[in-house]
Amino acid sequence: MWLKAGREKKIRHLYPWVQREEIARVDGAPTDGGLVRLLDHAGTLLGIATYHARSRFPARLLTMQDEAIDTAFFARRFEAAARLRQHRVQETDAFRLVFSEADGVPGLIVDRYADYLVLQVRTLGMERLKPLWLPALIETQAPKGILERSEMESRREEGLKPFTGILYGHVPEWIPITESGLHFLVPTTGGLKTGFYLDQRENRRQLARLVQPGERVLDLFCYTGAFALYAARAGAIVRGVDILPEAIELARQHAALNQLSAEWEVANAFEWLPASAERGELYDWVILDPPAIAKRREQRESLRWAIWKLVYHALPLLAPDGRMLVCNCAYTVDLSLMVDMVRLAAHDRGRALYLEDVSFQAPDHPFLLQFPESLYLKCLWLRAG
Ligand code: SAH
Repeated sequence: MWLKAGREKKIRHLYPWVQREEIARVDGAPTDGGLVRLLDHAGTLLGIATYHARSRFPARLLTMQDEAIDTAFFARRFEAAARLRQHRVQETDAFRLVFSEADGVPGLIVDRYADYLVLQVRTLGMERLKPLWLPALIETQAPKGILERSEMESRREEGLKPFTGILYGHVPEWIPITESGLHFLVPTTGGLKTGFYLDQRENRRQLARLVQPGERVLDLFCYTGAFALYAARAGAIVRGVDILPEAIELARQHAALNQLSAEWEVANAFEWLPASAERGELYDWVILDPPAIAKRREQRESLRWAIWKLVYHALPLLAPDGRMLVCNCAYTVDLSLMVDMVRLAAHDRGRALYLEDVSFQAPDHPFLLQFPESLYLKCLWLRAG
């Protein structure tokens, strides 16, 4: 595959995706999901990529070397990914082992939950390469079982149907994990993502460091209660709210498992907030961790207004000097846009808000600067006046 003149620069600068309009021509008729050699306009090799003519990104770079793409190649990638995490990920037996492009394996996500691996395949290219990378995962990671949970809608664009199934060994219905000394059960059927929000680990730890005994903490969009339980262990009085009854049921089990007390409620956050404000409830901390409702650029408007709405309705529940954590896991809504929306909500409430800190996804979800899409989780640590 030949790129147009000038288009090789971004590949040389480590950006791994090629757009359709950047391609000058494709020699032969490579099969969708197969491999292509990526060439600049003069015919110099840029690297080897997976190919899919109808994808938004017809080529995704696997390597910049002229090397064989085989099981040994993937084994090297997985070993490097594991090495990178060795000292960065501590006090947990659950972490993201492979973060797609940021680990040089475009289209593949692998999470480790104790002795098991739960993975997602996002592209046709990675699906076709499964016979090569699956043995490499087994060989380098020696898991007891591997579960694929490729349930993302975005697979349809790649011509792939959602798929869930065991790829290797056995996988229990619940995988017990321990993060920072807290015990959680990761559901392997039902549940969201690969079962647990590993990307928020450092933010949960930061909350636990900041929260004071006796403070009232509201964990909105709490899923299985992780933020709330970190706060409860620090001595806070916590309440978690989520729209998914199964998530709240598991949050209850998590509290019992850790001998912590917490209040849980199944509710729609957007309705729950104004109703609670009317009842005059007050909190010292409000955690807002909504789902990524804006994966595509077109949905950016709705997400940015969702942030405004959440902060606008959360502010009346915040005690004087109260703190608020506003998270956003859609890369389409960047940090400065988040700050703008939060500022607007504070302005509309006539309440002073101070930005005390900014944080991101945990380091087992590496952010490759040259690949802006790999930074998706941004969190604002705010204090109200
Ligand atoms: N903070 C969690 C992860 C949150 S993921 C953790 O650290 O584990 C987002 C959550 O928002 C999901 O559990 C989803 O069920 C929930 N959710 C989505 N829409 C909602 C709504 N309108 N009201 C309340 N919860 C909602």
